[in-house]
Amino acid sequence: MINSEDLMQLQQAKLFANISLESVEHLFERCHRLNLARGEHLLEAGAANSHLYLILDGELRVYLSDRSLPEHAVFGAGDCVGEMSLLDGQKASALVLEARETRLLAIPHEALWALVDCSHGVARNLLAIMAGRMRNDNLAMISSQGQSLEFEQAASVDALTGIHNRRWLLEAYPRAMERCERNAEPLCLVIADIDWLKRFNDRYGHLAGDAVLRRVARQLSEGLRAQDLIARFGGEEFLILLPHAGIDEALLIAERLRGLVGAGSARETSEGRHGVTLSCGVAQMQKNETLGELTSRADAALRLAKDNGRDRVETAE
Ligand code: GH3
Ligand code: MG
Ligand code: MG
Repeated sequence: MINSEDLMQLQQAKLFANISLESVEHLFERCHRLNLARGEHLLEAGAANSHLYLILDGELRVYLSDRSLPEHAVFGAGDCVGEMSLLDGQKASALVLEARETRLLAIPHEALWALVDCSHGVARNLLAIMAGRMRNDNLAMISSQGQSLEFEQAASVDALTGIHNRRWLLEAYPRAMERCERNAEPLCLVIADIDWLKRFNDRYGHLAGDAVLRRVARQLSEGLRAQDLIARFGGEEFLILLPHAGIDEALLIAERLRGLVGAGSARETSEGRHGVTLSCGVAQMQKNETLGELTSRADAALRLAKDNGRDRVETAE
């Protein structure tokens, strides 16, 4: 069954590394050879497995049962597959193994245990193969967890400014509202809108406008207290939630933010650009008010600030 060419290939296999094959040769009688054409499947997802397959030559591609994903791994001559079902009994595989003109040696599990019994070298090699496989699977798991964290973050962070976005604030608001109502604490909202940004873009270009948005986002974030929440709500508008702040304190905070942004733009003015200023509308949350209702009152105050000449703070109260 096993010819001399096969023996030469087996000598290269990881399972038989640093082992004299003569000591285990008699056990190969229990194994059989398998030839697979290109595209043929060795294991289907869900199929039980009772062999370790050693690749003599050719290639096996491993896919997760969802074939829309790219291949999970590629194995070539000297590699083996199917060793994991040795540990977890005959549990169905989650993988599809597809061949590319491949010659394999199929070693039944009982023959593999006999190999382990008769050779410490085989036992050691098998442990090394399994450890390598687990390490790879762990790495894949860690990187996929990392990716999903990245996706999650991307969904709640504004790509241009790096601060939170509208979606995040919509989720954060009910919690902030409940906490303040439970503790009978006030909560205020500031809408901060950059003045004349369209004109700035027209004059200095959209990229310069982007830089202004990033700078203003940074200044606003740095100018807030630890408990305050800020998000870019869209365009050149920022929403700022101020828990535990009554309207008087909120007006002071908004005034300070307006000052920070105006002072920051003095440098741009000296570089030959017209200064960027900020208008703010402030409203205090009423009992059980939704973010939409609170926002529309703060927005009315913002309109007032714009009508009254911009670069100023107004309140709805
Ligand atoms: P106002 O003082 O009345 O707020 O004037 P404005 O020009 O700031 O407001 P308007 O609502 O007329 O226009 C908003 C401008 O904001 C137009 C748009 O190009 C700019 N803008 C919105 N998002 C971005 C962005 O991501 N990058 C840049 N560069 N500009 C943006
Ligand atoms: Mg504006
Ligand atoms: Mg606006």
